[in-house]
Amino acid sequence: MGITKTDFMRGMQCPKMLWLDKHKPRLKVIPPETQQRLDAGNDFGDRAMAMFGDYEEMTVYRPGTTVPDKKAMAEKTAEHLAKGTAVICEAAFLYYNNYCAADILRKTETGYDFYEVKNSPEVHAQFIKDAGFQYYIMNRCRVPVERIFIVTHGPDEESPFVINDVTAEAKSYLKWVNDNIWNLNRMQKQAEEYKIEPGEQCTKPYECWYYAYCHGTRAVEDAAEETFLRD
Ligand code: SF4
Repeated sequence: MGITKTDFMRGMQCPKMLWLDKHKPRLKVIPPETQQRLDAGNDFGDRAMAMFGDYEEMTVYRPGTTVPDKKAMAEKTAEHLAKGTAVICEAAFLYYNNYCAADILRKTETGYDFYEVKNSPEVHAQFIKDAGFQYYIMNRCRVPVERIFIVTHGPDEESPFVINDVTAEAKSYLKWVNDNIWNLNRMQKQAEEYKIEPGEQCTKPYECWYYAYCHGTRAVEDAAEETFLRD
């Protein structure tokens, strides 16, 4: 069990959030509007795959499921990198079980540019950290990543994508990721529940899906049941 991009971002907001994801995920309550936003983001990401024309997608599912097979995806990605595929989508990498799937890698003369797609009208600080985590994994896997971009949505259908260069800032997170990824790895595996007092981290930068559980504002059984029904 390693750390994914989502694990890392959630664990950096609050280690207990990550611990609960791994040990008590049925306690989470995802607000319907958040779920809608996540679904819309998936559609936007699917459309963005073709923004540079033909592409190869690395997604591989475990047989009979819609669960990505990370190992198979990483192997497929390695094959396409070796043969110099021009545009690789969902390019997957594993580094000591830590994982990322980069939305788009686009070949350059000497390496690859990395595009992270976000269904948002603007670039938020969290997006750049998220790209920084993926850069860390690719860097450790010896992928020659050159520039890093966040793709946000444009004003209309005529210009659906806006490309924002965040190379310097995203690459500056290399040490920050390295300083935290191994502690989060250890913490998520511990048997006892991680202890932390609720505080600012419960709503910043995002409202936590375990808010009701930690604050005791709602019967945990009700919350768990609601999430179960939505899954
Ligand atoms: S509600 Fe607050 S303390 Fe509880 S897991 Fe979420 S962020 Fe952490």
